[in-house]
Amino acid sequence: MNPQEKTENRFQMRVPPATEYTAAVHCPICTHTVQGTVVAQRRSLRVKPGQKCSRCSASLDPGYVLRYDRAA
Ligand SMILES: [Zn+2]
Repeated sequence: MNPQEKTENRFQMRVPPATEYTAAVHCPICTHTVQGTVVAQRRSLRVKPGQKCSRCSASLDPGYVLRYDRAA
């Protein structure tokens, strides 16, 4: 194993490609804002698939993120 490759691996471990946050997600079905989990990947923020709206139980997949609280 060459030392250059080892350095790259350590860098990638320190900066994971995807991070989950709790955020305010807009539900397009009931038009309310509910709390959900979003996945931040690089610069884009997407709703984590497979979640349900806490108000109308619709899938939040087509919803979008209004804001998210970055972990302190
Ligand atoms: Zn809803």
